Amino acid sequence: MPTLFEKIIAREIPAEIVYEDDLCLAFRDISAQAPVHVLLIPKKPIPRVGEATEEDQDLLGHLLLKVGVVAEQLGLKDTGFRIAVNHGKDGGETVPHMHIHLLGGRPLTWPPG
Ligand code: AMP
Repeated sequence: MPTLFEKIIAREIPAEIVYEDDLCLAFRDISAQAPVHVLLIPKKPIPRVGEATEEDQDLLGHLLLKVGVVAEQLGLKDTGFRIAVNHGKDGGETVPHMHIHLLGGRPLTWPPG
């Protein structure tokens, strides 16, 4: 059963895509929590970050490098931004396809709720 995000990758569900390459996709969150709120996902359906394996090492590095690329593209590099990866129930995960939240465009409070 494909996840919601696999359906976005396959263009079966619409999304506002802001970046794509062979390994990953970034699109705007449908329920934005900041002026800029993008989800950066691997095309490989890793369910959650804590379940990534050694074979995912290069892919995880690729995702982190692309955070900077997407942040720059969306004008967040100078003002700053936050990334978050939710794992499991207490982490607030709702979609079982690993994703990096990229948030910016306003001052973000710390600690998160
Ligand atoms: P998480 O709660 O960390 O699993 O994050 C899942 C995120 O996916 C939430 O911020 C949702 O707002 C977002 N989301 C759910 N459905 C869609 C969709 N169809 N398009 C874009 N973002 C979505």
